[in-house]
Amino acid sequence: MAAQAASTIRELQRRYLFPSVITYYEESLPIESARGCHAFDFDGNRYLDFFGGILTISVGHSHPRVSAAVRRQIEKLVHVSTLYPNEPQVRLAEKIAAKTPAGAGLTQSFFTNSGSEADETAVALARMATGSGAVIGLRHGYSGRTVLARQLTAQAPWRGLDDEMPGVKQAHAPYCYRCAFRLAYPACELACARDLEELIQTTTTGRVACFLAETILGVGGFVVPPREYFEVAVPIVREHGGLFVCDEVQAGWGRTGDRWFGIEHFGVKPDILTMAKGTANGFPIGVTVTRPEIASKWKGLTISTFGGNPVSCAAALATIEVIEEESLVRNAAVVGAHLEDGLRGLAEKYPIIGDVRGMGLMRALELVTDRKTKEPARKAILRIFEETRRRGLLIGKGGLYGNVIRLSPPLTVGKAEVDEAVRILDESFAAARA
Ligand code: PMP
Repeated sequence: MAAQAASTIRELQRRYLFPSVITYYEESLPIESARGCHAFDFDGNRYLDFFGGILTISVGHSHPRVSAAVRRQIEKLVHVSTLYPNEPQVRLAEKIAAKTPAGAGLTQSFFTNSGSEADETAVALARMATGSGAVIGLRHGYSGRTVLARQLTAQAPWRGLDDEMPGVKQAHAPYCYRCAFRLAYPACELACARDLEELIQTTTTGRVACFLAETILGVGGFVVPPREYFEVAVPIVREHGGLFVCDEVQAGWGRTGDRWFGIEHFGVKPDILTMAKGTANGFPIGVTVTRPEIASKWKGLTISTFGGNPVSCAAALATIEVIEEESLVRNAAVVGAHLEDGLRGLAEKYPIIGDVRGMGLMRALELVTDRKTKEPARKAILRIFEETRRRGLLIGKGGLYGNVIRLSPPLTVGKAEVDEAVRILDESFAAARA
């Protein structure tokens, strides 16, 4: 009966959804329910969720505090549109203003429903505020699925169509494992960041609207820039009149450990910051937050019907309160370091692991067939996915070549669960090698 439910869901999906709605595994895995760090399929199998709905389940599935806040809000007010102020929206905006990086002055928010819209809003605003059209993204970056976001996304598999929009350039990524300049940090002297000067001088009028960068390249495979990257890159952009748009869709809300936002580890203050995913523990929300003088530069009327939806905002407020009260930003650092130790242990055992990287509870393993040539292990990763599924562990995939395992459990995860995940990975690597 249960197995039948799963196969019915698969069949309905195949028939009625776009085939572009990709799923993991040879046979997709319909999920019936989830609680805390676990998800359950229709056969009652339990999975330790180490991808958290793509870094979205910040405080565990169906956290009781978030569920209670949502229930209360649903009984009171579900929707009136932004034409009427609602309390959860303004309270959330107030909370966001208090949490954004100290001294950056990011106090005014615009609410939408997704990361794509948050980035789209940021870039449109940067263009209006500066009067320039040129937008610089990063190679290996990901911004979403609107036309602009696809154009900013610098990974062929996610692009689909050729250049759909002019004015978007991509700088070299701070991807040390696959350095475009074939240099090694720190002797490289941040050649990738310094190249922004030439990129701007040669491909724009010399004036730019903004540099949009993820703090950690998420879909790109949790690529962590060197510590000084933004300190070198951002002043170059500013010298050419551009704003720094920091995409914290994946790295925000404590995910990187010890800081609320990833960029706070890098000593640079953004002009505009975008968030989505983990903000409301699974309820749809996108946020673009900036300084008042930039926010006031928006030209023309604008509205987001569902933006600032009271239910999503109530969920976000409860999520942030749980992160505060349960000290989850610290937990992400402590348990994240424990996860890193476990992954480094695996790398000593399995040569297929070419690189271990990440911060906090955002950790990745880049798989290669040969550590010298760094040939992406595209096939082996599929086998490891099947093996981890069989053993009850959900993991994520990333990287331009689809050869990076991404691990991002809820921030509530403990060391025991990390040990279980590392044990399952260990067994899965061994099985995939056999
Ligand atoms: N920015 C980043 C860094 C992302 O990872 C994503 C989603 N993977 C987006 C933007 C787009 O978000 P959404 O899918 O909510 O539109």
